[in-house]
Amino acid sequence: METKKYVIAMDQGTTSSRAILFNKRGEIQSSQQREFRRITNQRETTVIWDASTGRPVYNAIVWQCRRTSDIIDKLKSDGLSGYIQEKTGLIPDAYFSASKIAWILRNVPGVKERAKRGELRFGTIDSWLIWNMTGGRVHATDYTNASRTMLFDIHKLCWDEEILDYFGIPASLLPEVRPSSSYFGETERFGGAIPICGAAGDQQAALFGQCGFNPGDVKCTYGTGGFMLMNTGREPIHSQKGLLTTIAAGEEDRVSYALEGSVFIAGAAIQWLRDEMRMIRTSPQSQTYCEAVPDSGGVYIVPAFSGMGAPYWEQYARGTIVGLTRGVSKDHFIRATVESLAYQMNDLLSAMKEESRLSLSTLKVDGGASANDFLMQFQSDISGVHIERPQCIETTALGAAYLAGLRVGYWKDRNEIRSNWACEHEFVPTIAPENRKKLLKGWKKAVKTAIFWAQEEENDTV
Ligand code: ADP
Repeated sequence: METKKYVIAMDQGTTSSRAILFNKRGEIQSSQQREFRRITNQRETTVIWDASTGRPVYNAIVWQCRRTSDIIDKLKSDGLSGYIQEKTGLIPDAYFSASKIAWILRNVPGVKERAKRGELRFGTIDSWLIWNMTGGRVHATDYTNASRTMLFDIHKLCWDEEILDYFGIPASLLPEVRPSSSYFGETERFGGAIPICGAAGDQQAALFGQCGFNPGDVKCTYGTGGFMLMNTGREPIHSQKGLLTTIAAGEEDRVSYALEGSVFIAGAAIQWLRDEMRMIRTSPQSQTYCEAVPDSGGVYIVPAFSGMGAPYWEQYARGTIVGLTRGVSKDHFIRATVESLAYQMNDLLSAMKEESRLSLSTLKVDGGASANDFLMQFQSDISGVHIERPQCIETTALGAAYLAGLRVGYWKDRNEIRSNWACEHEFVPTIAPENRKKLLKGWKKAVKTAIFWAQEEENDTV
């Protein structure tokens, strides 16, 4: 009788929980998904619970929540930004768990005292799930999730006492931190004892699922927002351009690092075309319009609806449209919007290449909008890179399954995993270099315009 047949991965998202069963070839055998209304997780989301009853002392504070912005403003005015970035690789922000924990300690009656007495536990959602699946026996997390708390020293691989002190967080609250691929415990929740052997944050799991094992490997996710991660190898690279330094998922105690950059508005711009502009009925339709014209007619759309992130960091920038003429049609408008996803990703990619000094061979893509062939071809053209879109786009769950399967010997090594990776479509640059240069120059001018608008706005208010 064959005993180890499948690996099950749970992808605990912000709006749905998914469980996916993979076979040895990394193919999906079965999957179940359930949406939920009360938003919870993804990496930084914070839960504090009672160690003896397992009951949360307060609702989970979701990663998007900005209620702790003032705690971060105070930290910045206390001059701690440099220290935080050096130790944790992160730019201080309410997004990460640290200020969310501090908020619960300060605002929920009795919690601070109970935490001091060692009665409470903190976890990101992975820890919370592991705790519950092991019947409260294991309080642990992995390096990738720990590296998003803004409490973890990514060089020494331990919780940083000085940061804990600053926030008044007792060490007894914190989980033990292990490699992403290691034995966390056993669960009996699904009938029989099943070992839990993999845990990772979604973006790092996706990089692993895309076989981004080597320095210079990059994966790019085109979801509602956009995420780019580059494996930078054993040495962490500290960014001057606002990229984050984070720990990549892996099997060993000695970790690899990654640079991470995000774009606030990616697929969301396509939703805007659909829901507000009402120019398309479905997102995939955008491709047909893009292909109806040879170019954007000189139009650039910078979808800075909520400011601009890396590498510009201009929170007051707003959406900007430039280059309109009488001849501009709906096709051009849609095409300019779709192209903006590629331009923004290209800005991240350029920053990563410059800071890491690594040359990039191939860009692996995933996420909903990566299904748009026009967008992928345009990305390949303006970035001058070879793009590969995998057959399995559930790269987050696949990465978690690989981490677990490696630990139990279901997969022998990374080479075996690599041989599972199958390309569904590849895109190679076909554009003339001078045309690429011209397009990029136009984009830079459009971004300058969006930033100029923001700065004028600021001046007016002073
Ligand atoms: P998330 O995980 O962030 O919810 P997904 O990876 O499911 O996002 O991607 C959904 C996004 O991709 C939506 O914003 C949608 O508008 C966009 N999208 C989906 N298909 C296409 C397409 N063919 N062309 C352009 N955008 C698309």
